[in-house]
Amino acid sequence: MHRREFLKVSTLGAVGAGIPMHKVISSSARGRTQTTTDELKVKEYRMLGRTGFKVSDISAGEHQGNEAILSTLLDAGVNYIDTGESYGRGRDERVIGQVVKKRDRKSVFITTKLYLSKDRTKKSIIERTRKCLERLQTDYIDCMMIHSAQNVGTIKEKGFHDAMSELKTEGRVRFVGISNHGTHWGILQPEEAMEKILLAAAEDGRFDVMLLVYNFLAKENGEKVLKVCAEKNIGATLMKTNPVADYLYFKSEVEQLEKEGKDIPGYLKKVLPRYEQLVEEAQEFIKKHNLKNTHEIRDAAIRYALNNPHVHTVCATCNTFEEVEAFLKLSGGRFTPQDKKILAAYAQGCGIFYCRHACGLCESSCPDHVPVNSIMRYNHYFVAQHREKYAMQKYSGLPTAKADRCLDCEGQCEAACPFNVPIHALLCNAHHSLTFA
Ligand code: SF4
Ligand code: SF4
Repeated sequence: MHRREFLKVSTLGAVGAGIPMHKVISSSARGRTQTTTDELKVKEYRMLGRTGFKVSDISAGEHQGNEAILSTLLDAGVNYIDTGESYGRGRDERVIGQVVKKRDRKSVFITTKLYLSKDRTKKSIIERTRKCLERLQTDYIDCMMIHSAQNVGTIKEKGFHDAMSELKTEGRVRFVGISNHGTHWGILQPEEAMEKILLAAAEDGRFDVMLLVYNFLAKENGEKVLKVCAEKNIGATLMKTNPVADYLYFKSEVEQLEKEGKDIPGYLKKVLPRYEQLVEEAQEFIKKHNLKNTHEIRDAAIRYALNNPHVHTVCATCNTFEEVEAFLKLSGGRFTPQDKKILAAYAQGCGIFYCRHACGLCESSCPDHVPVNSIMRYNHYFVAQHREKYAMQKYSGLPTAKADRCLDCEGQCEAACPFNVPIHALLCNAHHSLTFA
């Protein structure tokens, strides 16, 4: 849906067009239910740990540099924006600057992030932060995070902390944070998991906010981190809260090849029988449990994440106005017994197809050091978040062995997966999608 169509059918679009909310009741973007004005407002705010700022339970994650989408979210009451220096190579920060400069700066909490690259000196970190401030057109950044900290050593980086101390004294940065979504196997060794890095960061005491992976299929590690965040009054923000949607993609790709009369590639033929059997079982399961569409499962998944009292906000990646509407409707929602049933059924029938974000347990069994978890994360961007170009760029930029190594491999990683993910097939397919789409 484009903004013009959204303006026609959506309450929020109407607000964007200057039509008072209370006058509008429209059909929802999904076209099945009536969406009321109240449903499309933020309904709950939570204290972001020791920052003292009350954040909306649904917040603005990556928005692909789309000013209209970000404005719409803020108009609805979203007041936490998560971004990064690298998002669109500064494009997202520029868009945030354009949107926020027209508003009361104090009404919004902006978090941005820096990867700690080779140059980790205080001087370089200060210079990069000043560029973030310029792009964001603001005098201060509420929270500056280390982007995807790669190991426990990273959280102690002297250059970063010295830079932050100076910028805090100047009033340019208010709080410091850290994000992590899994290992960078093959780039840095030894492997260090999200849980280990974030627990060490909590212990370190200098981090006020965290951004971590937590969802109903990848919950144990996140729960440990969230508990410690609560004990230490650290703000807890979430990403990758919706693990649903990957498995059907593989099947539809095979169907498409058959429809077009094209040959099924050799690597697919090799792994197809096992995969097809799993998909068949999953579909039986979906029928039996009446799991009609992935929207229902996604909504239950977000409510599951927000149901954890230690979670302060879920960062929503919104590429379309349908997604904006879908996320806003979840604000203030409660996790219901029906949600519990849906997620349990999904986990039992389809959980096998989800390579857990921030896991990486199988990676040490790969003789070629293929970064399984990173590749499957890019595949998730491609398949579940429909960010095809971005996913392909990330994959192409991997400095490690890629999943082409998997095409002629026996798949040792699969035996090492405690969740029985058919990872060999998924990796072969991810390589195909991320390379040739
Ligand atoms: S395949 Fe299994 S063990 Fe490997 S990263 Fe994915 S979930 Fe973890
Ligand atoms: S399929 Fe083979 S090459 Fe690919 S990650 Fe697994 S063990 Fe490594």
